[in-house]
Amino acid sequence: AYVVTDACIDVQDKSCIEECPVDCIYTGPRMMYINPEECVDCGRCEPACPTVSIYHEEDLPAEREQFAGINEQIFLTL
Ligand code: SF4
Repeated sequence: AYVVTDACIDVQDKSCIEECPVDCIYTGPRMMYINPEECVDCGRCEPACPTVSIYHEEDLPAEREQFAGINEQIFLTL
């Protein structure tokens, strides 16, 4: 799945939402979150993000690796 990272915090441009064919990008209090159960790995959201917040989970920079779990956790608690 693709993952939203900290570069989205307090920005929430939301250009990604318009690109997602399965509507699996959700608005949180301070950043967007991608539901890994629904993401179909199309990759369309990644270039749409003006703050370069979105990565495939396997391409996350080391300092942002925790965001795979953070995106996943949000949906487990709903
Ligand atoms: Fe949606 Fe595709 Fe981005 Fe997954 S990779 S969140 S399906 S736009």
